[in-house]
Amino acid sequence: MELKLYNSLTRQKQVFEPMDPQRVTMYACGPTVYNYVHIGNARPAVVFDTLYRVLKCLYSNVVYARNITDIDDKIINKSNELSQDINVITKKYSEAYFEDMQALNTLTPDKIPYATQHIPEMIDMVQALIDRGHAYETDSENLSDRGHVLFSVPSMPNYGQLSKRNLDEQEAGARVEVAGYKQYAGDFVLWKPSTDNEPGWDSPWGRGRPGWHLECSAMIKKHLGETIDIHAGGQDLIFPHHENEIAQSCCANDGKALANFWMHNGFININGEKMSKSLGNFRLVNDLLQQYPGEVLRYVILSSHYRSEQNFSKELLDSAWRTLDSLYGLIRGLEPVEAVLEPSGAAFKALLDDLNTPVAISELYRLAKAVNQAKGDEQQDIMRELAGLADILGLLQQDPEQWFTQARADDQLTAEQVEVLIQARQQAKQEKDFAKADQVRQQLLDGGVILEDSREGTKWRRS
Ligand SMILES: [Zn+2]
Repeated sequence: MELKLYNSLTRQKQVFEPMDPQRVTMYACGPTVYNYVHIGNARPAVVFDTLYRVLKCLYSNVVYARNITDIDDKIINKSNELSQDINVITKKYSEAYFEDMQALNTLTPDKIPYATQHIPEMIDMVQALIDRGHAYETDSENLSDRGHVLFSVPSMPNYGQLSKRNLDEQEAGARVEVAGYKQYAGDFVLWKPSTDNEPGWDSPWGRGRPGWHLECSAMIKKHLGETIDIHAGGQDLIFPHHENEIAQSCCANDGKALANFWMHNGFININGEKMSKSLGNFRLVNDLLQQYPGEVLRYVILSSHYRSEQNFSKELLDSAWRTLDSLYGLIRGLEPVEAVLEPSGAAFKALLDDLNTPVAISELYRLAKAVNQAKGDEQQDIMRELAGLADILGLLQQDPEQWFTQARADDQLTAEQVEVLIQARQQAKQEKDFAKADQVRQQLLDGGVILEDSREGTKWRRS
């Protein structure tokens, strides 16, 4: 069995081979905790959680780390705005993040490093970069500019390997706000000075705090190693964040690659428009969870391929909810079985092909229909396969009765879903399982569908 993943670094699908099959390492950039996260932050969490589950099927020991950025200018600004202690803010929003992630049924990563708990490692890395001629301390005449340590981009000849930007482009892009203390426009901050009322730590360059990019490089090195198997994140992080992580780690670790595979998920659009501050169309996970079960959000995210752009809309969420209704309806009343993942099955093969979750989900639907129509041992076998697939996708993990009793919006079933349920009811009637037939009838009724039985068959209408 070969796992193929699209590597952003080489821009092609490649066979994944870990450096050490006994310890597969994976890192995903986590949130900056100054606000509730939006659906664009939920996508990488769900996608790479699914990858983590796939890897765990293939390897006995997978170490997955996802950090918490709890020191950042955005957090400091929020703290000033609200006149609230910075720790109160980071505690509140990291807890909210964990709750959101739980609602999305993501597994807890093996390591959750916090930036503020790794300051000595960050200082060591800055020092290593200075010692190797890749970073410099600013020596500005302007006192307030002192105490910065910057990474010297021209000191790294192959800077730009991930984003495929060359130095000229990099310079042009950065020219907009060139600080006077920079030797080169593209140089970026590793360490910056803190004023007395800003959080800071003592360092050889005075009291200050780390730059965002540095945090990930230092935490990866400490928890996973100098070179890791997979580094993941949203597409928007490729430049400058991931490019700068590569620069720091590679130059501090004597040229060693930071990650062999770089994986990036695509953007999420809202009703066809890019999510942006100016449009004010951010959808917070927390808000969506007031209206939809977390599983609906997870289902929507996995229903499109992670590298494609995804469009979120109310219609999509409502339709995902109805689809989950019919999936739960198909397995309702069946005895739970032990999950068995079928390695030769179409679904697992699809997941091994660069995490093709849309195909895996269509298989989930096919198996749910099949299990409903099968009997005895055959039914048990399909049920086990279905449960195995559901486990790896992190879907259908609830008791169907619980699913159907949860609060819901007033939505209708699609025609296709109605047909599937009518078929299931017909099957139950043929098997003289009238209780189940009635249950399905009720389910349709709950979905706003009224059945009319006649000699010609069953007709239906919306109520
Ligand atoms: Zn990062």
